[in-house]
Amino acid sequence: MSDWWNTLPLQALDAEQWEALCDGCAKCCLHKLQDEETGEIFYTKVRCRYLDEESCRCGDYAHRSQLMPNCIQLAPDMAGDLQWLPVTCAYRLRAKGEPLPEWHPLISGDPETVHRAGVSIRGRAISDEYVHPDGYDEHIVRWVE
Ligand code: SF4
Ligand code: SF4
Repeated sequence: MSDWWNTLPLQALDAEQWEALCDGCAKCCLHKLQDEETGEIFYTKVRCRYLDEESCRCGDYAHRSQLMPNCIQLAPDMAGDLQWLPVTCAYRLRAKGEPLPEWHPLISGDPETVHRAGVSIRGRAISDEYVHPDGYDEHIVRWVE
């Protein structure tokens, strides 16, 4: 099926398709803060230290859970419920039955289009190696929808 990404439900994807669905934006590798009273989520520009910011890919994807205990491994039945996922996240879009955007690498055939479209975090983040956890609130950003 040539356009499986816009037709198959998440539950029907095989392992290779599941991985290919990720657009490579790396927004999910940014640290987030939650308002204890309202529950509102705030994205910061502080990123996980294991992220290769140039490629926006995990530096050790196979061991990510051990390296970063709060690194969430998405599953088909979770994607629609995680309100902190960016609205552009391909898993969130497909969980709602929405099509992928034109800049998604599966549509464009080019992994750079997510960066050219200004959707990824490339060049906009700072590693958590350089920020004290108590100081994350100084790095809240509004460019993650
Ligand atoms: S936000 Fe979604 S599409 Fe973007 S890198 Fe994370 S899992 Fe992939
Ligand atoms: S361990 Fe890898 S996938 Fe997990 S948050 Fe860090 S860079 Fe992202």
